[in-house]
Amino acid sequence: MALILDGNSIRDQILKECQPRVAALAAAERPPGLGVILAGDNDASARYVRSKVKACQTLGIYSEQLTPPASVTTAELLEMVECLNQRPEIDGILVQLPLPPQVDTKRVLLAVNPEKDVDGIHPLNVGRLVENTPGPRPCTPAGIMELLKRYGIVVSGRRAVVIGRSDIVGKPMALLLMHQHATVTICHSRTPNLAEVCREADILVAAIGRAALVTADFIKPCAAVIDVGQNRISTQEEVRRIFRDSPEKQAEFARKGSLLVGDVNPLDALEWAGAYTPVPGGVGPLTIAMLMANTVDAAERRLGACST
Ligand code: NAD
Repeated sequence: MALILDGNSIRDQILKECQPRVAALAAAERPPGLGVILAGDNDASARYVRSKVKACQTLGIYSEQLTPPASVTTAELLEMVECLNQRPEIDGILVQLPLPPQVDTKRVLLAVNPEKDVDGIHPLNVGRLVENTPGPRPCTPAGIMELLKRYGIVVSGRRAVVIGRSDIVGKPMALLLMHQHATVTICHSRTPNLAEVCREADILVAAIGRAALVTADFIKPCAAVIDVGQNRISTQEEVRRIFRDSPEKQAEFARKGSLLVGDVNPLDALEWAGAYTPVPGGVGPLTIAMLMANTVDAAERRLGACST
């Protein structure tokens, strides 16, 4: 039976460590400030932004939301970003993705001042990540590295497989693991014999966006399995495929009408892995914690007090 890696408790540790730093900044000059741009009316994005703003409030970080309509243009978003770039009390800028389809997302992200890029996705910060020099790291992979460290899961010298090659999760995850001296393989939608490759992993990270694609045959016994996926399932067939005949899950599904599941089959992970991040309650909470940590880092750097 796998050890459950509890993302909520690691999130709480990270936020607790941020608290005195926020207080010190507030006492010295002003609290850190985060500007969030939430364009359009994507429900999931609105939910994520609410959680991020709530985390700011809990910590005493100043936050501000700009909510342009779904019809917003690239030029209007560029103007908003520039305005946040210029504001001295804003240390971090978060452009919640996805942006509406008519918007040139790359241009908007490129416009963010790299020193305020708390998502770590500006090309300059991607370069810093590749070089392994200091800079903000993308929140989800950075959170996973914190989780591995705080649970004492050895990375150096081990085989790691990352499924997914996105700019925000898969690629930075692979780089962070490599910088910690893992031997890393990146898999994606065109990787042949996926299960066979994954079975070599001491650390398997699934960032795919396909409900429970990773099954027992992907998991090396006792591996650490990190499930990044957030997928909503809404049919009985899917519930049965993933949770078999679990009466609890059937009841939860009947009550809610849908269930949030990861990219890994939870029953298989519990049976075969040595350690496993559940969905929900695994990787998700870490992303927000690292956004807060990146915002505090940015504020400290701007006030010349950051030691990194
Ligand atoms: P993405 O769609 O940008 O990338 C998905 C990757 O999976 C692609 O590189 C693709 O090649 C690969 N892929 C797709 N189908 C595959 C298959 N059948 N076999 C192997 N590889 C396949 O997604 P993303 O932004 O990287 O997000 C991945 C998942 O992680 C999503 O479910 C997303 O919701 C979730 N996510 C969670 C958090 C969090 O905080 N928990 C943060 C970011 C993303």
